Amino acid sequence: MFLGHFATGLAAKPLAPRASLPALLIAPQVLDLAWPVFVATGVERAHLERGHLAASPLVLEHMPYSHSLLFALGWALVFALGYLALTRDRRGAVVGAALVVAHWLLDWIAHDHDMPLWPGSARYGLGLWRSVPGTLAVELGMFAIGAALYTRATRATGPIGRWGWPGLALVLAGGFVAATVGTPPSSIDALLVTVAATLVVVVGAAVAIDRQRPAR
Ligand SMILES: [Zn+2]
Repeated sequence: MFLGHFATGLAAKPLAPRASLPALLIAPQVLDLAWPVFVATGVERAHLERGHLAASPLVLEHMPYSHSLLFALGWALVFALGYLALTRDRRGAVVGAALVVAHWLLDWIAHDHDMPLWPGSARYGLGLWRSVPGTLAVELGMFAIGAALYTRATRATGPIGRWGWPGLALVLAGGFVAATVGTPPSSIDALLVTVAATLVVVVGAAVAIDRQRPAR
């Protein structure tokens, strides 16, 4: 899943009002931040196959460290402890840990039999990505709910908070639709760079927006 992960972070703002927008967007993407690094270094394996699943060309052959449930629990602990050390926000740390693990559940819904429970276990996935309309409906629907909850839980104190936030939401939703229905990247390397660059740009924008959108 892609957009649905951001949706969970946005939806969590009322639960963790002290947590910043970048923290709420990073937590549900920790596994997908680790994944490009592991694939680029050959620790995990993936390749692209056009038409593999209707909504995704990704063949995820081996990803025990970024995407097994056991390691997701470990990443959640690492995130929570790091976040707690930086912010002393206990509530945010617990919510953040839940967001890290929620990534595994959402990928299990979207992916097709490539999500391990632990390294070497059988692999699972419900295969939402087999359907383009299903993928668009579920992920856009989740994102709309998450964006509405975040908007309601915060208030704008400046132009970036007022206009930058809906701008970022539109870019994310539009980029997701384009990536889902458009031509896939030419190679797995191009895709890794795209994923990593997207996450860096989104977090950068979130830092600026967060300064002008405090919790209500
Ligand atoms: Zn993932």
